[in-house]
Parts: sequence; structure tokens; C-alpha cells
Amino acid sequence: MQLADSRCCFCSRTVVLQAEATACARCKSVAHIDCLQDAGNSCPACHTAWLNIADVVAYSKRCPSCGAVTSAARLSSCSKCGGQTAWDSYTDYLAAQRKFHRLGVGKAVGGSFALLAAALFAALAVAVLIGHKDLAKTSDEIGRDLADMAGRFMVSFVLFGVAGTSAYLGVRQLTKALPLLRFV
Ligand SMILES: [Zn+2]
Ligand SMILES: [Zn+2]
Ligand SMILES: [Zn+2]
Repeated sequence: MQLADSRCCFCSRTVVLQAEATACARCKSVAHIDCLQDAGNSCPACHTAWLNIADVVAYSKRCPSCGAVTSAARLSSCSKCGGQTAWDSYTDYLAAQRKFHRLGVGKAVGGSFALLAAALFAALAVAVLIGHKDLAKTSDEIGRDLADMAGRFMVSFVLFGVAGTSAYLGVRQLTKALPLLRFV
């Protein structure tokens, strides 16, 4: 949780450094550590003993963006890609996990469809390219045949382009889906 630039719930002054403040795990009030100690470690909003947010932070075992196993050092973001790996509470973590799994399923389905479409377009491109052609007999027919071939090449070229783009998008979706689905 971002503490700098928040207002201290005791002295109402702005927190400058993350290290000089702490937050209440129950109500997310922010306080200077010094102010909190002076007030006897009790939250003015919750009227109970101060529960430090850092003590209830939930860390994931994997990064939702790149899938890397998170370090034992318990960092709030992935050391490889900067993805979020810490949540203010276990409940927040569980909500994030549900969201990531749902996103992952969506991307996996989308990616699979894109790959399927790519295969269909590629097959179509091949079919257009090798489509049946009559044996040319006269020079007229040879000319027509060549024009026909050029047309086929153009069409199959476009179809291959669509297939390639679709395959690229599909693979990209699936690559994103994997760490989301494996998120714990
Ligand atoms: Zn203060
Ligand atoms: Zn509180
Ligand atoms: Zn990462």
C-alpha cells in the first residue's frame, strides 16, 4: 500500500516517506509511526489496538504477469517484470486470484479461437493456391491460366497474411493466459 502523500490520521500532516509511516489493516488509516506511538498504538477510527497493514499483507507465490516464482524476500512487486505480488489482505489476494483465473480462461479461449481461425485461413490459402486447374491446350488458354495463377497467388497471399496475424495474436493471448491460470 502506498503511504507517501497520504495524510496522517493523528497530526493531519502529509506523509513524506514510506518508511516513516504505517497503515491500519482494518480501516486503512495512515499514520506516522511516531504519532502512533505517542497515541499508544491505538487506531483513532477503529478504537482498537492498531493492526499494522504490513502484518496482514498477503503475498502470491507466482507473478500474475510473467509467471515467475516470487522471491522468499516477500516483495510487493515481481523482481523480473514489476507485476503485483502483494495484496493488503488475504481477502484482497483471493479476489485478485479469482480475477486472474477468470482473465486467464478468457485469454485461453480467445487464443485458441485465434489459432483455430489461423489454421482455417492457412488451409483456405493452400486450397486457393493448388485449386484444380484444367490442362491448357491453346495459347489463349495458357494466357488465361497464367492470369488465373497470378490471381490465386494474390488471394492466397492475403489469406496467409490473415492466418499469420491470427496465429500471432492467438499465441500472444495464450502466452498471457498461462501465468494468469497458474497464479497462486
Ligand atoms: Zn502524524
Ligand atoms: Zn483503523
Ligand atoms: Zn513478473
